[in-house]
Amino acid sequence: MGQVQVKEVSRPKRGFWEQSYVPEIIRGLGVTLGHFFGAITNPKENIFTREYPEVERDGEGRIKYYPHRYRGLHRLMLREDGQVRCVACMCCSTICPADCIHITAAEHDDPDIEKYPEVFVIDHLRCIVCGLCVEACPCDAIRMDTGVHCEPFTDRADSFLVRDKLMSRGDLSAAQQGGSQSA
Ligand code: SF4
Ligand code: SF4
Repeated sequence: MGQVQVKEVSRPKRGFWEQSYVPEIIRGLGVTLGHFFGAITNPKENIFTREYPEVERDGEGRIKYYPHRYRGLHRLMLREDGQVRCVACMCCSTICPADCIHITAAEHDDPDIEKYPEVFVIDHLRCIVCGLCVEACPCDAIRMDTGVHCEPFTDRADSFLVRDKLMSRGDLSAAQQGGSQSA
């Protein structure tokens, strides 16, 4: 059995002034004051204001001030007859790491469709935009590709994205569902 190699590392000793932190505090205040007076004396050079959301991102920009990979709000896809594609299987709500999808399943009138979501709510304030719900869905019923940012709100209740709102951004899906080919 080989011997364990040990390397001793000596800790650098701090002197009185380093230990007191006073010089570093003064240096930090100097940087802050430099920015402060720079902004006052030459605001055009030193203060940059993004006029969001009126101004688009230069040269890039499906979305204002968002990177290309930004996916935006969820949407629920539709069947050919305009009904929701979701079959309330709960895969998305089960995998959601933020526990922010709440579904109440109900029996569908059509015997070919077992269930549908009577209630489908995403708590947008809890959502971490990971996209796992989209990955988990077995029937392309939920997508995150709208590029739409959540509108500002002041009421907590407005952060809940409900089924009909999610469906209003939806569209037909080309994926197969229930053995038939959708548009
Ligand atoms: S994007 Fe992630 S956190 Fe948001 S609802 Fe889907 S699984 Fe949950
Ligand atoms: S959106 Fe997809 S994964 Fe979520 S409950 Fe509906 S069918 Fe299942």
